[in-house]
Amino acid sequence: MLKKINFFINGQWVPPSKKNNFEVINPSNEEPFAIISLGSKEDTDAAVKAAKEAFVKWKETSKEERISLLEKLLKIYKKRFIEMSEAMSLEMGSPIDFANSVHTASGQSHIEDFILRLKNFKFEEHFDLKSNNHISYEPIGVCGLITPWNWPINQVALKVIPALATGCSMILKPSEIAPISSLLFAEMIDEAGFPKGVFNLVNGDGAGVGTQISGHPDIDMVSFTGSTRAGKLITKNAADTIKRVCLELGGKGGNIVFADSYPNAVRDGIRNVMSNSGQSCDAPTRMLVEKSIYERAVKEAIDEANKIKVDDASKKGDHIGPVVSKIQYDKIINLINSGINEGATLAAGGPDLPNGLNKGYFIKPTIFTDVTNDMEIAKKEIFGPVLSIIPFETEEEAITITNDTEYGLGNYLQTEDKEKAKRVAKKLRSGIVYINGNAADSGTPFGGYRQSGNGREGGVWGLEEYLEVKTTTGWK
Ligand code: NAD
Repeated sequence: MLKKINFFINGQWVPPSKKNNFEVINPSNEEPFAIISLGSKEDTDAAVKAAKEAFVKWKETSKEERISLLEKLLKIYKKRFIEMSEAMSLEMGSPIDFANSVHTASGQSHIEDFILRLKNFKFEEHFDLKSNNHISYEPIGVCGLITPWNWPINQVALKVIPALATGCSMILKPSEIAPISSLLFAEMIDEAGFPKGVFNLVNGDGAGVGTQISGHPDIDMVSFTGSTRAGKLITKNAADTIKRVCLELGGKGGNIVFADSYPNAVRDGIRNVMSNSGQSCDAPTRMLVEKSIYERAVKEAIDEANKIKVDDASKKGDHIGPVVSKIQYDKIINLINSGINEGATLAAGGPDLPNGLNKGYFIKPTIFTDVTNDMEIAKKEIFGPVLSIIPFETEEEAITITNDTEYGLGNYLQTEDKEKAKRVAKKLRSGIVYINGNAADSGTPFGGYRQSGNGREGGVWGLEEYLEVKTTTGWK
């Protein structure tokens, strides 16, 4: 059993002020494999105090000093790459090959990209040639960073790296469900030699450390990724201190498959939903299929879902792992049952355990067909390997159905007609539209409309979230 009960505060690994042990469960076998502590107000206050004191000097460092430290961190990250993958495979059930090639790789790519953006970022500029005003960007201050379990190091890197890059100090509270990768990341930051107090980590749950962070008077900004439910609570709790609140929340993406889409569009859509066991905020979980190709698309979708293997996360190869926890497992199974009860057709998968697996939070890749957009399975973020297929007749109808959700994170569309693709993309109300399976490049902004949040992470936009803008007159 791994014992990871200490927090990283003011450049040191310190024990919690009160004993409150918490077991981290391996979702592949339902067994605890690590013990952490859940922090209390004293721990949060100590971390915030350290961050506040460190900010005074850290904000004055040059871009070059911060780049040099980030480059050291990148080297250490690459050296401990496999350890990072193993941590995520154990804590959230990512198959080890997927953890290596996607999860850990995403963290590395964010560090690399933010270094590049920082090199090119202008913190000072004149407004225009005629103006006597000077505009500058300054770090916002002490940041509270709260992250989820589904893309652990991806989310942590998207927050910690731009905060460090812009000269902010911080307290990170990773998900208590998957904290081991973040503790490893804290070790890397320690080894890289960032000044004490600039980065602090306190483990805890939402009701404890999470709430203490969002309401803390000495925290200037909260960056949160997680559920819309928690995003609302954080926003309300942050209101009294008027801190900046950046939210990256849930989604219920549509994937419009037009009759003229490329040959593998349906199969790629299935892989995309089931990847990471369906636990991605921008997963295309509602597939809208043009009626003229509906029967063929359904056959392909079933065939592809049945091909996807489900197995233990420690095994190598191409498969999906378990979902993260018993709570998530029960929620997903309840929603699968609600789909059956509401009259959708269960075309693949279902609520039973996959063949050969009788322990672990495993769920069969599941497909519902003949879904209508008012069913629970089409409205709720299921966050498991479950897809709803909805037929449509016209372009307008496809757009209306896709936009008929409280979310607006990632939408997808498939057509070989380039003009139609652009026309439809412009009408979709989401922060990202993926055309024909093209991935977003690193350094592009990621974030949502409506109840998917208000922030944009990644690239220059990710740096700007951590900056205040100052106008100084009479400059020349
Ligand atoms: P969650 O909201 O339950 O927890 C996320 C984090 O917030 C955890 O660290 C948790 O301890 C903390 N938390 C919970 N309640 C809190 C509160 N009241 N105050 C402060 N902190 C609180 O979410 P989760 O189950 O860990 O993650 C899954 C969710 O994250 C999904 O809804 C998914 O769509 C979303 N997500 C969004 C993005 C994005 O960029 N938009 C990316 C990944 C995940």
